[in-house]
Amino acid sequence: MTRPACGTCATPGGVRDGRPWCDTCRIWLVLHEPTGQWVSYADNASRDRAAETARRVAASARQVTDNLPRVHTMLPEGWTARPHQGIDGALYAIAIDAPGGVIDATAYLHPPTDTSGWQVTVHNRVTGVGFPSYTDGGARAASFDTVEAAATDGIRLLRGEIHDLASRRPR
Ligand SMILES: [Zn+2]
Repeated sequence: MTRPACGTCATPGGVRDGRPWCDTCRIWLVLHEPTGQWVSYADNASRDRAAETARRVAASARQVTDNLPRVHTMLPEGWTARPHQGIDGALYAIAIDAPGGVIDATAYLHPPTDTSGWQVTVHNRVTGVGFPSYTDGGARAASFDTVEAAATDGIRLLRGEIHDLASRRPR
């Protein structure tokens, strides 16, 4: 059996109960395949999670870049669409805004994931309300097969917010 060097302390690992073990760190060692380093099971799991998150963020960025031109062709006059990443490390979405000053609200089109199609949310910064588009009955968030269907829904929801704003406005 080879004696893998511990990825944490760089000393040659040993064997304990038939498994690679670092006597310095007091951890079992497992091979982290992408880097070839021997790390603890906990470190290996967290590295896998980090890699999985990075993969999903990159996939969402690609979807946004690929589909943004199709959304642009659908926008009403004066409306805009742009890539949006809420916070560093978050998934990308396509943000749709009505013409400046009409309403301080944005519709977001979230790219498909392994478990869902496109999803749509609206964030109204005036009322502080954010909500997803629901399927009929409201049991779960609506999922759209195409970016066109998602954009249509996002525009509809944002127009609803504008309508609500107009009806609340004092005369
Ligand atoms: Zn070690």
